[in-house]
Amino acid sequence: MDFKRWAAGAAVLLSAGMLANCSQIFGSSEGEGITTAMLIGADGDSANWISHGRTYSEQRFSPLDGVNRDNVGQLGLAWYADMDTGRGQEATPLVIDGKLYLTTAWSKVKAFDATTGKPMWEYDPKVPGETAVKACCDVVNRGLATYGDKLFFGTLDGRLIALDRETGKVAWEKVTVDQSKSYTITGAPRVIDGKVIIGNGGAEFGVRGFVAAYSADDGEQLWKFYTVPEGGQGDDAPAYLQKAAETWNMDVLGANDAIGGGGTVWDSMAYDPDLDLLYIGVGNGSPWNRAYRSPGKDGTGEGDNLYLSSIVAIRPKTGEYVWHYQTTPGETWDYTATQHIMLADMKIDGKMRKVLMQAPKNGFFYVIDRETGQFISAKPYVGLNWATGVDPKTGRPIENPETRIDKTGKPALVLPGPLGGHNWHPMAYSPTENLVYIPAFEAGMMYAPEPNWKPDRARGFNVGVSLAGELPADGGFRKQAAGTLKGRLVAWDPVAQKARWTVEHPGPWNGGLLATGGGLVFQGTTGSEFNAYDAANGKKLWSFAAQTGVVAPPVTYTVNGEQYVAVLAGWGGAYALSVDGDLINRKAPVRNISRLLVFKLGGTAKLPAEPALADLPLDPPPSTASPEVIAVGQVKYGRYCAVCHAPGAVGSTVLPDLRRAGALESAATWQTVVHDGALKDRGMASFAGSLSKAEIEAIRAYVIKRANEDKAIEGAKKVARR
Ligand code: CA
Repeated sequence: MDFKRWAAGAAVLLSAGMLANCSQIFGSSEGEGITTAMLIGADGDSANWISHGRTYSEQRFSPLDGVNRDNVGQLGLAWYADMDTGRGQEATPLVIDGKLYLTTAWSKVKAFDATTGKPMWEYDPKVPGETAVKACCDVVNRGLATYGDKLFFGTLDGRLIALDRETGKVAWEKVTVDQSKSYTITGAPRVIDGKVIIGNGGAEFGVRGFVAAYSADDGEQLWKFYTVPEGGQGDDAPAYLQKAAETWNMDVLGANDAIGGGGTVWDSMAYDPDLDLLYIGVGNGSPWNRAYRSPGKDGTGEGDNLYLSSIVAIRPKTGEYVWHYQTTPGETWDYTATQHIMLADMKIDGKMRKVLMQAPKNGFFYVIDRETGQFISAKPYVGLNWATGVDPKTGRPIENPETRIDKTGKPALVLPGPLGGHNWHPMAYSPTENLVYIPAFEAGMMYAPEPNWKPDRARGFNVGVSLAGELPADGGFRKQAAGTLKGRLVAWDPVAQKARWTVEHPGPWNGGLLATGGGLVFQGTTGSEFNAYDAANGKKLWSFAAQTGVVAPPVTYTVNGEQYVAVLAGWGGAYALSVDGDLINRKAPVRNISRLLVFKLGGTAKLPAEPALADLPLDPPPSTASPEVIAVGQVKYGRYCAVCHAPGAVGSTVLPDLRRAGALESAATWQTVVHDGALKDRGMASFAGSLSKAEIEAIRAYVIKRANEDKAIEGAKKVARR
């Protein structure tokens, strides 16, 4: 780090009046490299990208304008690097002094020369393959944090690891979760004043959510903040958790170890150094279905269940609670508030306000006062039916009671569905346009509560809602159903609370966003493109054929004054695993070809030719099992298989299509995989603790039935394979 850049950071810090105390700048333990002042002043350091959302405000806006509206047509590939994982790629790279660092699927880390793409080092934390079964949404990782001379990242199996940035050697490593439970880490840490802050996921599997801080020096745990109360907690519990307990049925919470409550902090954080507040986004309840999670007089359950689906402000020094705002009281639809939290200052009703903005899964775009947590406004950014609006006085949603589910099995069609109107894909903000760009989509779901649901601590989705549903085996109907799935880039005016412009995409799950001083918005798509749009009106100005779905957010940086734009490409994540791989963009199957793509003006590199699709005929054995056996198989498939291998066994293009699996031919081979865990190192764990051999055979019978249905209507077709 040169002095000039340090000085620039410090100047921003001083001019912004953020000089809280001298130790923030001259902290003794920081050593060489990235300092707190640099992180606070990151906005003034446009050459680099040193924090997950570029700045603590997480705006993902770069002032760089070397690539702009007028010349973006000349943008070309400068270099690319193949990733070795073949799974979803969701990471934001960091760029420091001409070096680019990223994480890939399976929590691996790689470092490159940011100009040439020359690999510098790589690190594999060797996450056990069977950890995959604890992850709701693919074996992804969303990135790194940096401080001093180190890089920090979380692993899928719950470790926080510090690497030496120059060499990639481990400086320290800390297990942050109870590894006997289904905690996973996929989110990027943040570092505030030498404290590395990380949360985790697992709310589909019965865990209790928390976020914790560790010393950047040695990994010592400094504080831990739980987001939901503990069953049986006493008077010595912190006041905010005692207050939360009044909003839960505390007889049930924790009574069974698998009802941990959920509320995991699996992605978003933001920090205001002026207010010294850390904002965390809190996830859904565990199980989803409140009727089981917090039963009450009403058949749908009772209580707001704090702090589920909330934005919580805490003191980063101590982990002390300051305020919260709950987006979805008593959530029951997997409506996390873990989506991107973004900070900005803007004039609302004639007054400058320090606001926090979020487009959580529930479909409303929220503007909140970030000093106090006071509700300012909320309007739908996508179609929704679970509420008719948000009461401006109380900030509470006005619910549609018909979308609440109970324990009876009576289903409710709800929009948004569990993937939300917006998921983890980062938004971006343009201060010049005063627009927030949202990677939004519409994908509803029929929520069918599972009657007589019991938690299973060992394995499987513990949500109290059945995923055993399937679309009829009818090609026309399926295409029609796929046609209801919409994806769009929405340019949202947060003051007027309405869209200024919208770009329609072929389907949901398009990439995270980057906005630049060149008047551009960059976004990858489900349709295997990487595009640049005019930030003012959404006109598509440039497009690159990426050969694979692009879900990760781009970054931009300069080396020797030349601007680069980088994005990780590689289809994957929750939606990619759960939809029919052949229908998602209605032209060709979206496939996973995992690569880092780096662009500059006049870049002339070329991708190798796209590999041909593998020819995998749909040729199952005849379906001979009884309807009773197949029905058992369908229920068990929904609980234990659907999340990774798609509801209805339709097969995504990321994980094996079970209808085409060789093991389908042989009951014995099927048992060695599902019961004995023969493929555990590749991510397919043993289900012996949750499923009997007869149930495993019933699942095979169900998949054979489904495969024969689809063969009858589709014939043998080609699907993409990694
Ligand atoms: Ca969830």
